[in-house]
Amino acid sequence: MRLILVGPPGAGKGTQAVHLAAHYSIPHISTGDIFRANIKGETELGKLAKSYMDAGNLVPDSVTNEMVKDRLAQGDLGNGFLLDGYPRNIGQAEFLGDVLATLKTPLDAVLELAIENSEIIKRLSGRRICRGCGASYHVLFEKPAVADICDKCGGELYQRVDDQEDVIAHRLNVYAEQTAPIVEFYRNAGLLKVISALGDVSEISALAISALGN
Ligand code: AMP
Repeated sequence: MRLILVGPPGAGKGTQAVHLAAHYSIPHISTGDIFRANIKGETELGKLAKSYMDAGNLVPDSVTNEMVKDRLAQGDLGNGFLLDGYPRNIGQAEFLGDVLATLKTPLDAVLELAIENSEIIKRLSGRRICRGCGASYHVLFEKPAVADICDKCGGELYQRVDDQEDVIAHRLNVYAEQTAPIVEFYRNAGLLKVISALGDVSEISALAISALGN
């Protein structure tokens, strides 16, 4: 299965990506996670990406595209792949099309997780992330057993700078202006499947798998 997951920030792409990657036995490639790992490791790429990410802007295409191209060349894509958070604009979608054509690995599907902005703001402003293992919690809907401590690894929970309300509003604008057009791009290519991002994680996974096929 060669799949792209698309949807606004807070639609639950990361959570669904983990389930779908396990179901289809494919690598989960999240550009946001790769950038965050680079920030944590204090690499040059991390230093460059951080200012864009903290402001809720896209990291420049020249940087992001080359990073994804390198990742896709790693030789572990025999079963396919799941791209989460990439592409995020038409230029990236076209670049990806060229890379996949060279690799002779065309996309099977693009799955859109659809959700209203008001729901997104509720979800993202309460989101907390573990500094240790990256697990995600919510101050109202998915509380850890002990406040601000990760259930899985005991790490400290924090709020991403880009989950603060003013930055969320900006990220939603960036999504509407730059990323939403790729939904039409893939609809026109006959690859788009749309499901609702509302409901239990397991219900949404089941919807996704029935839309995509086993
Ligand atoms: P995410 O975890 O997918 O919400 O991504 C967090 C941030 O990383 C985004 O707000 C961007 O600043 C950056 N980012 C992730 N993926 C991309 C991409 N495909 N193009 C540009 N910037 C990206």
